[in-house]
Amino acid sequence: MSEGGTAKTTESLVLEPVVEFRQVEKTFNPGTRKAYTAIRDVDFVIEDRPDYGEFISIVGPSGSGKSTVLNLIQGFSDVYPPTQGKVLVRGKNVTGPGRDRGMIFQKYSSFPHRSVLRNVTFGLEIHRDQLGLSRSEMDDRAMELIHRVGLDGHESKYPHQLSGGQQQRVAIARTLVLKPSIVLMDEPFSALDEPTRHEMQRLIHELWHEIHATVFIVTHSISEAIYLGDRVWIMTPAPGRIGAAFEDIIPPRQGSDPLTTQEMPQFKEAVGEVVRAFNLLESAHEDTGDT
Ligand code: ADP
Repeated sequence: MSEGGTAKTTESLVLEPVVEFRQVEKTFNPGTRKAYTAIRDVDFVIEDRPDYGEFISIVGPSGSGKSTVLNLIQGFSDVYPPTQGKVLVRGKNVTGPGRDRGMIFQKYSSFPHRSVLRNVTFGLEIHRDQLGLSRSEMDDRAMELIHRVGLDGHESKYPHQLSGGQQQRVAIARTLVLKPSIVLMDEPFSALDEPTRHEMQRLIHELWHEIHATVFIVTHSISEAIYLGDRVWIMTPAPGRIGAAFEDIIPPRQGSDPLTTQEMPQFKEAVGEVVRAFNLLESAHEDTGDT
């Protein structure tokens, strides 16, 4: 092999981080009376761990910029660009949404006039030319995801014929069918009742081990954050920054049931630890009068 060839091979082995925030600040409506700095000095690197993916849970008080962090990764036009700093995905500045990133919201985001199958093929249809898929290949891929999220037999139904949990399964299938390497979930289960929420947590936990994507989830539930996350970040009150970060706070729990896991003494200790850190950050903020 030529010298040039060797250099190229070595270079291609260097993996860019999946997501990197460098001292990011976002102020909405700057220079007006409505100016609001949602985040400041948000700084982190999520390294690429091939065939693994990572699950990052973000908790924090309301208004501390949690959704803003996700929206900046997604590159939504009403949030992009950051006021200060850099948001990089695989080493490149984020300038808009892309097929490599998929978002799942709290509100069911399915199209009401499309069947479950057509909701799931929607993203594939949009990117049909790039993907080079025939109609039957798109349908096959969508049916595989419909099966994976447990909606077999519901593919011809319309969203209004489904329960809240089933609609959220459609949203998950719609996102995962495009095989994104980054999945962003903004309080995806807060509208669901407790048993359905546990079902969805179990599903996401299983799927995440299969898809090896890097997942960011914003949640109000500290138990959910700990059950799902390899890392748990607590944002400070606004301007939000990562005030505390926990890694592998509970032992690996592949295949474990959320309810059983949450009964474990180690899990309860972990919840206590995160709640204490959360409260400390809030009271430190109040002490500085920075409210
Ligand atoms: P969190 O998810 O922690 O509750 P958000 O990221 O939603 O916090 O945002 C914090 C605040 O920033 C919001 O309450 C709102 O005042 C402001 N904000 C968020 N997005 C926008 C936007 N697109 N335009 C104007 N203000 C926004």
